[in-house]
Amino acid sequence: MSEPVIHVSDLTRRFGARTALASVSLSLPRGAVYGLVGANGAGKTTLIKHILGLLRAESGSVRVFGLDPVAEPVGVLSRIGYLSEEHDLPAWMRVGELVRYSRAFYPAWDDAYAEELRQAFALDSSARIKELSKGQKARAGLLVALSYRPELLVLDEPSSGLDPIVRRDILGAILRTIAHEGRTVLFSSHLLDEVEQVADHVTMISDGRIALSAPLETIHESYRTLEEAFVARVGT
Ligand code: ATP
Repeated sequence: MSEPVIHVSDLTRRFGARTALASVSLSLPRGAVYGLVGANGAGKTTLIKHILGLLRAESGSVRVFGLDPVAEPVGVLSRIGYLSEEHDLPAWMRVGELVRYSRAFYPAWDDAYAEELRQAFALDSSARIKELSKGQKARAGLLVALSYRPELLVLDEPSSGLDPIVRRDILGAILRTIAHEGRTVLFSSHLLDEVEQVADHVTMISDGRIALSAPLETIHESYRTLEEAFVARVGT
């Protein structure tokens, strides 16, 4: 088996008295779509921030492409496409400017694909980002995260703000294509039916602990739906 893209070992993170992650271990091989599910406050974003090197492991370790993302941020982040929950984008730019600005950072930027996505997402190049709706901002953030064809795509709650058609038809297809190309997607969500439609492998997190982590097919051997598995492992 090839080296995992993400390897998290015994990671614990506290914020004051609150334990956000408790002894989390996870090993994700490349070439699949990984869904990270959990209720609000379960620890999903905290785990993602460790993977991106935005938080330093207090105990335990995190490796991405075999590298420590805190010690080697350039080596790791240049290979990751990331969409945050807040879709933080420069508000004053126009969509076309955002594309030109972003492509300067990435030698592998794919102009034709960026244009294809801009059209699929119905984004107007001359529109100012601050005037976009939440869903349009999410589309613009996705366009940037996807257009340099990163080896690892990390999406924190990508659906928040996206309408059902983009979510189901466009995002689902994009994520499947990425996995078919041998690249890797990790996305967090609290929408179980959405994760069930797209993910190959599901990790459930509850109160900072991994409640279940398995291929969707294996989960379906024991549970009819992901919701049933979630209720059994995590509670309502
Ligand atoms: P959501 O679905 O609401 O985004 P989440 O699963 O992403 O939730 P996290 O944001 O990882 O959850 O938060 C896990 C826990 O850690 C929560 O109890 C949260 O209040 C706490 N927490 C996260 N970041 C901080 C911080 N910077 N300071 C203090 N507490 C924090």
